[in-house]
Amino acid sequence: MLKSKISNEMKNKIFSNIVKRLNEIQKIEHLTDKEIQLLSTPKRINSTQLKVNDKNFPAWRIVFNNSLGPGKGGIRFHPDVSEDEVTSLAFWMMIKDSLAGLPYGGAKGGVKFNPKNASPQILETVSRKYIDAFYEFLGQDKDIPAPDVYTNSQIMAWMLDEYEQKIGRHEPGMITGKPLELQGCALRADATAKGGFIILKEMIKEFGLNKRNLRIAVQGFGNAGLNLSKMIEEDGFNIVAVSDSKGGIYNKAGLDIDQIIKTKNRLGSVINYSNGEKISNRALLELPVDILILAALENQITKDNANNIKAKYIEEIANGPTTYQADKILFAKDIMVIPDVLANAGGVIVSYFEWTQNKTGNILDDKYLEGLSQKKMISSWERVVAAHKEHGNKIDLRAAAYLVAIRKILVAERLRGHLK
Ligand code: NAD
Repeated sequence: MLKSKISNEMKNKIFSNIVKRLNEIQKIEHLTDKEIQLLSTPKRINSTQLKVNDKNFPAWRIVFNNSLGPGKGGIRFHPDVSEDEVTSLAFWMMIKDSLAGLPYGGAKGGVKFNPKNASPQILETVSRKYIDAFYEFLGQDKDIPAPDVYTNSQIMAWMLDEYEQKIGRHEPGMITGKPLELQGCALRADATAKGGFIILKEMIKEFGLNKRNLRIAVQGFGNAGLNLSKMIEEDGFNIVAVSDSKGGIYNKAGLDIDQIIKTKNRLGSVINYSNGEKISNRALLELPVDILILAALENQITKDNANNIKAKYIEEIANGPTTYQADKILFAKDIMVIPDVLANAGGVIVSYFEWTQNKTGNILDDKYLEGLSQKKMISSWERVVAAHKEHGNKIDLRAAAYLVAIRKILVAERLRGHLK
């Protein structure tokens, strides 16, 4: 067991939850200490300070594992970014990429910086400096970034341009989530939401639920949460609450998502929507709903509020929104959590399509790619449910997803001769 060694070394909160999970998987899967050591140690941590206008912004690029292929994972700009968070996000990318059957390892990047009030000039400078700092470690066959929280296709465009200036040739496959004109993929914009929607429908089928009777609450109304809310409403589900960073809005008779989008675009937040009751983010999580969709940030359901959750099903679109202790409480309460590494893989699957097109020069039909993405999502769902059943439903879906992903990574490590 490595728990204390790793958590002391990394002095972190989020990653220590991952270590607890791995120790649990070690018992279920009879893994050796060496295997657990390998699965809980990042392969490469790069960190620096980006100096912009006399301010220093800490920045990281971390490759957690690359046994299945190059590192892959987004870059986050957020004032709370830390090494602990980036390491944990890189670990989850390792699991997600393996589970989705992609030829990637797991990686992530971040800059501790608040982009919300930054001018476009500052955003561009931070983006270019990030590449100046890390370009030697990036590349289509080394480590491939993408957007994450508060980064977007424009930022990917600046990063690509800076990279290509550094290496002196075109290499669009070094980064995904690019604008279409710079060889991005049209499916990327709502790919995560679409993937989450496919998994939601699989879950409903699996558990024999009737969508007309379900009340849904969605936390987070950005790229993932807003698009997913639209798809859910258009399909005839009833969304009764949504929230963003300013708070939430609740109407037990149902919300008009189109009107909420218009309100948010016009007035900056969902809380300005008039046909509903204003509620706090905490209250949204504890509403009497059937399905709770988490599409904001990590650590939203913790030991402090897990006992108050009334939803029977939780879908994690955000990365890491439920802590280890909360997972245990929810499992004991028979609340089914569809884990992030399964539910939010739609984005990285489409990133993979973008990358293969960039590498080969082929342009594939969007309809064909959409079908392929759907097949991959459904296949991941089926493999996770099968692993859950293989263990007599005694492990949660997160443990089942980790089992499926980890088995493949360990085979790759063994084949490479890294595990004897
Ligand atoms: P985004 O920045 O577009 O949106 C985030 C939303 O969450 C915003 O509406 C923000 O106001 C809201 N928010 C922030 N703090 C909140 C709080 N405490 N309570 C309620 N709402 C809050 O980001 P996104 O791209 O939609 O990503 C959301 C989550 O999904 C992140 O965890 C991200 O890592 C994950 N994710 C996104 C993608 C993707 O392709 N967009 C892919 C995989 C995972």
